[in-house]
Amino acid sequence: MVFLIDAHCHLANLAGVMSVLPLIAEAEKQGIHFWLSSVLAKTEISWHQKNPDKRVAYSAGIHPNYEECDLELKDIEELCIKKKIWAIGEIGLDRNNPDFAGQLKTFIAQLELAKQYNLPVVLHLVGHTSEAYKILKQYNLHYLVHSYAGSLQGFKELLHLKSLFTISERLLKRDKKELLTAMIDSNRYFFETDITREYVKKGEVNPLLRLISLVSSVAVLSGIKKEQLITRQQKNFHSYEQSGFL
Ligand SMILES: [Zn+2]
Repeated sequence: MVFLIDAHCHLANLAGVMSVLPLIAEAEKQGIHFWLSSVLAKTEISWHQKNPDKRVAYSAGIHPNYEECDLELKDIEELCIKKKIWAIGEIGLDRNNPDFAGQLKTFIAQLELAKQYNLPVVLHLVGHTSEAYKILKQYNLHYLVHSYAGSLQGFKELLHLKSLFTISERLLKRDKKELLTAMIDSNRYFFETDITREYVKKGEVNPLLRLISLVSSVAVLSGIKKEQLITRQQKNFHSYEQSGFL
């Protein structure tokens, strides 16, 4: 049986343009059984609270470079106290945001929250990988690094942490082959669509199903059988369940 997990997506954001529940039902028939949804806005928190679903867990965080993110530290802390979120994130550092000092401060404040409430962290790292690594290694937290497409050296640093990675379409590019291979060799991966309302293509009926074609493309590129990839990400999912994250 196929058991796929979409380990990074934005279901509440997608719900702004599509009715998500029927999409989930159809995706489940095709083998996608669990979604890790990332929340970046207050309205998205409300959506998840109004639409509880045992197939979905959500995280919340202040993104380093997303204008529509209106979450404040107190919103995230409230979710921690009420035990609503499985992780803090996506948070991190992004070279496209010129205010390095500001994003660093917000990043560290949220890592402190994760430490205080004993939660994993979903990471968004675009550039500044070494700076991020130096900070992350000071915290003994579990990290889910979303759509990492930086240097191979940066990836090797992140492997020293208690980290897993979500493979996205970005790793299908020819110049990312070495990184993709290293990620698969590490066995520490999931797959993700990162779907938001902005990413939906014209005429696309169910963007959640992209996960299936992503896994097929990775199988072709890496030369590893699709079944093997699916089994591995399923094992990683079970390790998250056993750790009590989900
Ligand atoms: Zn995302």
